[in-house]
Amino acid sequence: MKVMNLNEILADARSYNLHTHTQFCDGHAQMEEFVKAAIEHGITRLGFTPHSPLPFHTPCNMEKEKVEAYFAEVTRMRREYCGKIEIYAGMEVDFLDEWGPRSEYFAELPLDYKIGSVHFVPTPDGSGEYVDIDGKPERFTENMHKVFDDDVEWVVRKYYEQALKMIERGGFEIIGHLDKVGYNASVFRRGIDREPWYDTLVKREIEGVMDMGYIVEVNTKSWENHGRMFPDERYWDLLRRWGATLVINSDAHYPELINAGREYAMRELGL
Ligand SMILES: [Zn+2]
Ligand SMILES: [Zn+2]
Repeated sequence: MKVMNLNEILADARSYNLHTHTQFCDGHAQMEEFVKAAIEHGITRLGFTPHSPLPFHTPCNMEKEKVEAYFAEVTRMRREYCGKIEIYAGMEVDFLDEWGPRSEYFAELPLDYKIGSVHFVPTPDGSGEYVDIDGKPERFTENMHKVFDDDVEWVVRKYYEQALKMIERGGFEIIGHLDKVGYNASVFRRGIDREPWYDTLVKREIEGVMDMGYIVEVNTKSWENHGRMFPDERYWDLLRRWGATLVINSDAHYPELINAGREYAMRELGL
């Protein structure tokens, strides 16, 4: 297999999307539908990134039993669409302290690259359980009542703490939607993501990312529906000033959204 050169790909932002979810996790169409949609949008390099297997079952993550079929389908797509589009086998790997991008399990998979993302935080009762805080705001609010005693600041601080730990441990190339919790938290408590302590946490994370040299994802998934980018646009100047390497990803779960928000981000970022 040809080794993928991320820097070469990133040099042409229009050519790629490296964050895509299909039938192997919580995506809403078959891999082939995404390949066709990408070709229609002039994308010539497409990376798939199923939510990684976890030590427990969730409705969104790929089961370990499906991993082999995932790689087989990538191989089939590569053959079927050879010469039209390059296809990469990636994974969006969750960080759960003892499980994450650094885990041996992932090192043994034939992955082209990994996105490291935080979607879960541990529960405050110290039971070792993790709660998905990344889903819809309704579910976030429900969990705020049920699990976190409505202490949204605790959840936000924990999210950024987990992100820093993941950044230190490494094992991935791209940091996914680095301030994603800001959206759900600000639906729960309006303006929380404008408070100075919150801003400090985001900047501290960006510093950590820059120190370790990861590629920073500009995630456009929520742009069309919620007018929000991850990281938020107010951090883009800082990222540019600090010379961050950026990847513009749609995080598509539907084929028709394969390029959603990417043009806007590229224009604003001067890419
Ligand atoms: Zn994600
Ligand atoms: Zn994703």
